[in-house]
Amino acid sequence: QSNLTVADNPKEVHDLTIEFNKLLNELNENIKRDRQFISDASHELRTPIAGIKGNVKLIQRRAAEHPEVIPESLKYIETESDKMQRLIESLLALSKVDKVELEFKEVPILAIINETVDLMRQQVTQPIKVEGITTSNVVTNVNNLQQILVTLIDNAQKYSPKNSTITVQQVETANAIIITIADQGLGISDEDKAHIFDRFYRGKEARDTKIEGTGLGLAITSRMAKLIYANLEVTDNTPQGTKFMLLLPKHISEKF
Ligand code: ADP
Repeated sequence: QSNLTVADNPKEVHDLTIEFNKLLNELNENIKRDRQFISDASHELRTPIAGIKGNVKLIQRRAAEHPEVIPESLKYIETESDKMQRLIESLLALSKVDKVELEFKEVPILAIINETVDLMRQQVTQPIKVEGITTSNVVTNVNNLQQILVTLIDNAQKYSPKNSTITVQQVETANAIIITIADQGLGISDEDKAHIFDRFYRGKEARDTKIEGTGLGLAITSRMAKLIYANLEVTDNTPQGTKFMLLLPKHISEKF
């Protein structure tokens, strides 16, 4: 009955057609993005596999006469296998981000930050300084928030010298807590800044300095931030290094 009424009304048919086309376009965009993702992921995995196979062949052909090739080839195989393992773990993490149902609860932000920083102090060589005291609670998903902080602190240590300092600062506004993670490292060029949240993107400095990475950390992080209605931005740290800013709403109705 109601369908007939809709079909009888040209204005509603017109509106429905527009709505339908919009959904179809979105679906097409998603399919295109997924295809691109599978193609990029396959490409990233192909490179280490080719390296491993090449070195296995080298050992098979030459090890009998030249046993000195063995240790170097094995080392190469180990490095490339580690790379593949990291990549697969990151790919799995990325595929899971959207699937889990997020539980939001009210938590004291200061305790979460302190707990995460204490955890990271065991893994990071640089000292981590915590600045600013907030007494507020936020309504958020704790796991996502902690994962975001872990990745940003981990990146800060990866891309800055061992004798420099990482600073985690919190500032409170009426509706949000702003958490900044600042380092005194390589910094990020403006050109790279535009792409670092893209999947598989690695900055020029990161590639040139041979710092290991998959280019997936910030893609996962920015997706996690969106899901808790937080805004993640990157700026320069003065006088040197990089600063990531996470704008975290105190209540989940506040979207940015
Ligand atoms: P990965 O670190 O595995 O390359 P990410 O997605 O975590 O991947 O980061 C993407 C790129 O952003 C890095 O390759 C690097 O160029 C840049 N980057 C991220 N964090 C920092 C930082 N704290 N300092 C300098 N560059 C950074």
